[in-house]
Amino acid sequence: MTERNVVVLGGGIGGIVAARTLRRRVPRDVRITLVDREDTYTFAPSLLWLMSGERQPRQISRGRERLARKGIELVRGEAQGLDTERRTLRVDGRDLAFDHLVVALGVQPDPRLMPGLAEGGIDIYTVEGAIQAGRALRELGGGRVAVAITKLPYKCPAAPNEAAFLAETILRHGGKRAKVALYTPEPFPMPTAGEALGKALAGMLEQRGIELHTGRVLDEVDAGRKELVFQGGDRAGYDLLLAIPPHRTAEIVRTSGLSNEAGFIPVDRATLATEAGGVYAIGDVTQIPIAGGKFLPKAGVFAKAEAEVVATRIADELAGREPRATFNGNGSCFVDMGDGVAAFATGDFYAEGAPKVSLRTPSRRWHLAKVAFEKYWLARWA
Ligand SMILES: Cc1cc2nc3c(=O)[nH]c(=O)nc-3n(C[C@H](O)[C@H](O)[C@H](O)COP(=O)(O)OP(=O)(O)OC[C@H]3O[C@@H](n4cnc5c(N)ncnc54)[C@H](O)[C@@H]3O)c2cc1C
Repeated sequence: MTERNVVVLGGGIGGIVAARTLRRRVPRDVRITLVDREDTYTFAPSLLWLMSGERQPRQISRGRERLARKGIELVRGEAQGLDTERRTLRVDGRDLAFDHLVVALGVQPDPRLMPGLAEGGIDIYTVEGAIQAGRALRELGGGRVAVAITKLPYKCPAAPNEAAFLAETILRHGGKRAKVALYTPEPFPMPTAGEALGKALAGMLEQRGIELHTGRVLDEVDAGRKELVFQGGDRAGYDLLLAIPPHRTAEIVRTSGLSNEAGFIPVDRATLATEAGGVYAIGDVTQIPIAGGKFLPKAGVFAKAEAEVVATRIADELAGREPRATFNGNGSCFVDMGDGVAAFATGDFYAEGAPKVSLRTPSRRWHLAKVAFEKYWLARWA
């Protein structure tokens, strides 16, 4: 019998769920290989708790040994080339053959893509950056803390708001006379979740004394003068800059022939199939249009749900059954606000006309639910 190979490319949220679900659903003689350049995995939704001091890195990172024990082959290396015709993937000079491929490479923040940012700001989307941001907030004498969304798209629409709320909490608890200001190119917070939700979130920021500056498209950071320079020439000064850097997909994605001009992979929004036979893409690496000329937000909740759909479809295909699993665009996310309180957004992002997403009143309950989800994720999947 010929060997059958399923390769999962990228071992973040989507890739881990895809590989584990496949392992449960396909016979043992089907080889499941997970490729990632990192040998540890960090649960990104908890990153900002490194900033607030509620977590240490070891509490939110895991090695991949458990996956190997489950019968998933691990290949650690940089994926460099993909040939969808020959169905091979090049990893650190070695070719891996596949019958099915799940591309789950995410999208990576890169401060070098915004002039002056690496010198003038802290990238809060990394472990080191989140820790550094927490230290800088505690050491700050006073002044102005800018939280800046430097470019669209970026992962997790809730996270910049969480960063502003948590920064304000740290400063207030430290008795600092400092102001937090959130800058975004968007018309209101979390626009993919609809205007009503965005306005409600804007009101919550205002109640905490956080300035919200919308429609601000950043051109560069003037690190010497500690100023944000916006399109049109407007400037805003800061004492500490907490940045969500511009994001870019991996080079292999941009050169694969699967991606669009923006560098993301278009997929069928129900099946996650790409244009290439046997190749699916899930999570942040995809670009999925939704109502209102927008795109599905880049969030782990979608990567996870899409991974389960794709794994089920591949299992059915391998078993000779008609694949029926589809992704319905439903998703939820917590917005942690500090002081042990969070809000919760949930709904249907595929709804016709406009996403149907509601925001639940901030309470301790949603913060505890966010903590419970983190524990569940790390115990069940990582
Ligand atoms: C601060 C922060 C808070 C967040 N909070 C939430 C939240 O509360 N809820 C939520 O739903 N989402 C949240 N997210 C977003 C969530 O983390 C991402 O949407 C999710 O991780 C996307 O999953 P993915 O599998 O597509 O990509 P990722 O999880 O990013 O995984 C991609 C993997 O590909 C690997 N890789 C990349 N390039 C290569 C290459 N060339 N070769 C080999 N390996 C490669 C990477 O090492 C990585 O392991 C948050 C993100 C951040 C940064």
